[in-house]
Amino acid sequence: MKISKKVEVGLLCSRKSVTVFFVGMFIFISSMLFISNVNAEVFKATAYCSCEKCCDKDPSDKWYGITATGKRARWGTVAVDRRVIRLGSKLRIEGFPNTIFRAEDVGSAIKGNHIDVWFPSHREALKFGVQKIVVQRVRNG
Ligand SMILES: [Zn+2]
Repeated sequence: MKISKKVEVGLLCSRKSVTVFFVGMFIFISSMLFISNVNAEVFKATAYCSCEKCCDKDPSDKWYGITATGKRARWGTVAVDRRVIRLGSKLRIEGFPNTIFRAEDVGSAIKGNHIDVWFPSHREALKFGVQKIVVQRVRNG
């Protein structure tokens, strides 16, 4: 009797911990999914580079390649509408899982849910074209 009771208690305990484990996992996974979808929105994405065509600045211009925040444009720089995304914000952009982008620039044509992704060459910017893309705010600036 004593032995079987012990076994039963043991079974109950392990079943309970299994349940707790699965409930815990469920909560964990669903909260991760929730967090990963928070602040994610579809944006129109275009691309630009530092060239004269894109930025209307001649290479001899002292502001050539310099963003609205005073930083030199480099991979990860995006131009935004600062009423939608604050400058200094960190973003994730669909299709570029290894890059955290930075809202560092603005542009007269960048309005609303529109981001302009900086590329090192005009050719790459052209290749990017215009896309509908999911943008997630990692940190607001
Ligand atoms: Zn260009």
